[in-house]
Amino acid sequence: MRVITCLFTEHNLWFVLLAAIMCVVGATITIRLYRLVVSAQGSARLGWAFLAAVCAGSAIWTTHFIAMLGYEPGVPVRLDSGLTIASGLIAIAGSGAAFLIAGIHRSRIMQALGGAAFGLTVAAMHFTGMFAYRVDGIVTWDMNYIAASLILSVAFGAAALYVAPNWNGGWRAMVPAFLLVAGIVSLHFTGMAAFLVEPLAGIEPGAQSPAFTAMAIAVAIAGFLILGTGVATYLIEQRMREASEDKLRHMALHDPLTSLPNRTSFYARLDARLDGPQAGETAVAAIDLNRFKEINDSWGHAAGDQVLIALAERLRKFDGGRHFAARLGGDEFCMILKTGDERELQDLVQALEGEFNQPVQCGALEATAGASIGVAIYPRDGEVRDTLVRNADLAMYKAKADPLTTICFYNSELGDAVRERRALAHDLRQAIENNELSLHYQVQTSIETGEIRGYEALLRWRHPVRGNIPPVQFIPLAEANGLILQLGDWVLRRACLDAAAWPEGLKVAVNLSAIQLTHIGLPQQIHQVLIETGLPPARLEIELTETALIKDKAQSLHIMRQIKALGVSIALDDFGTGYSSLDTLRAFPFDKIKMDKSFTDELKTDQRSLAVVRAVLALAKSLGIPVLAEGIETVEQLELLRLEHCDEGQGYLLGRPAPKDVVNRLGTRIEVSGAAPAASAPARRA
Ligand code: C2E
Ligand code: CA
Ligand code: CA
Repeated sequence: MRVITCLFTEHNLWFVLLAAIMCVVGATITIRLYRLVVSAQGSARLGWAFLAAVCAGSAIWTTHFIAMLGYEPGVPVRLDSGLTIASGLIAIAGSGAAFLIAGIHRSRIMQALGGAAFGLTVAAMHFTGMFAYRVDGIVTWDMNYIAASLILSVAFGAAALYVAPNWNGGWRAMVPAFLLVAGIVSLHFTGMAAFLVEPLAGIEPGAQSPAFTAMAIAVAIAGFLILGTGVATYLIEQRMREASEDKLRHMALHDPLTSLPNRTSFYARLDARLDGPQAGETAVAAIDLNRFKEINDSWGHAAGDQVLIALAERLRKFDGGRHFAARLGGDEFCMILKTGDERELQDLVQALEGEFNQPVQCGALEATAGASIGVAIYPRDGEVRDTLVRNADLAMYKAKADPLTTICFYNSELGDAVRERRALAHDLRQAIENNELSLHYQVQTSIETGEIRGYEALLRWRHPVRGNIPPVQFIPLAEANGLILQLGDWVLRRACLDAAAWPEGLKVAVNLSAIQLTHIGLPQQIHQVLIETGLPPARLEIELTETALIKDKAQSLHIMRQIKALGVSIALDDFGTGYSSLDTLRAFPFDKIKMDKSFTDELKTDQRSLAVVRAVLALAKSLGIPVLAEGIETVEQLELLRLEHCDEGQGYLLGRPAPKDVVNRLGTRIEVSGAAPAASAPARRA
């Protein structure tokens, strides 16, 4: 009760208000700085303790003096300057010690002890300040109030520093400062209640008021300046901390090479989009580069990186930066396209694909990466994020598997087919090591004489569970999964090794896939295999299809010339099934044309179609290129081809593909008798 009376009757409330503001601001800043003392390491901790001590000390000191200047004891008052300064130093030094104790081990007990020390500091400052306060009257002290003020100050101080390090979020973050204020205020007014002044007779009160007011304002300004320094330091530290947090966050959410958002942020962004009002205008595009591995292999990783960076930049700017692009790793990108309209998407994705077909300058070189793009539209192709992304991926794999398409929109049949293919691709990876692959050889003969010219190597895969899997099924799979180079190397090596043991003059024809032809190291690889296996180059023939050539004509031509320079011949496979066969024939230096089986098939049904075959043969003749007819199954076909002066033939009639000992069995010549042969044993040995 005495405390309340003391506060309201013996104090100028304006001063009390100013003191209260000072106290609250000071306590808030002190607690923040104190938290930094606890969390900092090494010398930084000392620095923060010093700053916290200066802030806390000056806050306590100014709070006390402003309140004291508002104290109206009813008698004239003087201040002892020595003790006043001493009380300020005590406040700063004591607070510093308190923070060091509390911060020293990060132990909870030490924090409470430090808090208690802080409470004692406040008390020491207060009572030293009171000794500096000289009144013209008789002063008595009430020891009970003094004891109560000490207990309150120590208890609140201990509580404040104890909870401050842990209670630092939400409303609880305010509690420690509140406890500190409670400690300072309760000490001050309980302490003042202990201070009793009996005025001496004949002394006039209040004469010193204007000087006191000026002093109070000066003290307050000084106090706020010191606190301001603390605030500024704290804010600078906070900014630096935020900046480094921003940097860390950026690192966690972005790909370091291209600075594009990474998989984590892609998922987060897509989740947000699908949860938001614009979910209906969303599609996902999965993107995989077509020739990244080759760029990396032939020009080095630095060039590969440069290509990725340049393409990332194009994606960022694509369509005015309207969409969200991310790099998921390697040469895989993903985009959130902000439209659900299929027609608009068609155009958009077309344009997107165009970005990948623009060459990237790598020093003196130009690289064109090309991309396969799969698109899934929300919610049709997936109502949740994972399904949507997976289906975009499936569509992308589909696009990748087909050498002629680069864009594929998801549809439900794709799902089953692709899952099946995935499983198969996985098995294919092991097939080479597990010896499940072998080569069969199919004879190629002169049509005129039946003389054996060579054999075409055809790859066979006997799957341990599924049995024989036809190459038309697994070759595209190997192409789509980057296995074809390894597989192709195995075939080439095996075929050359086998052929090296054949009689002189027999050639071996090896099929190369489109992907192999884009590999710049191919000529060198062929050269190496020829040296290692000892097969003369003239006995190796490479079979290429038109589709393998037209993807990148300049590159194909370059590689073809290099292969021919080794002395290896090149045949155009499946002629007539392609697109601009005539152009291809003119543009590329082929040594042989393999006329597709579909032409040979026509021969038995329709006399008129003979005209087509005749035209092909005439064309080849005019270019000076020999023709081999594929898929000869009947004697009639063989006879007709003989009459048309077709050079060579291949087909079940002459011999089915068979394991390598077929070469010894067939000898040097195939002679076909007049009767149509049974499919199983078509040919007879000469
Ligand atoms: P291709 O190069 O056109 O090979 C000829 C295909 O026609 C072979 O099928 C062969 O068995 C078949 N064939 C031959 N004569 C006849 C006939 O009289 N009638 C019928 N109906 N078919 C006949 P296969 O072995 O299933 O190979 C299919 C395709 O797989 C090949 O077509 C070729 O494009 C590809 N392939 C096979 N082995 C390899 C390889 O080692 N590497 C690459 N890249 N592709 C290969
Ligand atoms: Ca072939
Ligand atoms: Ca063929």
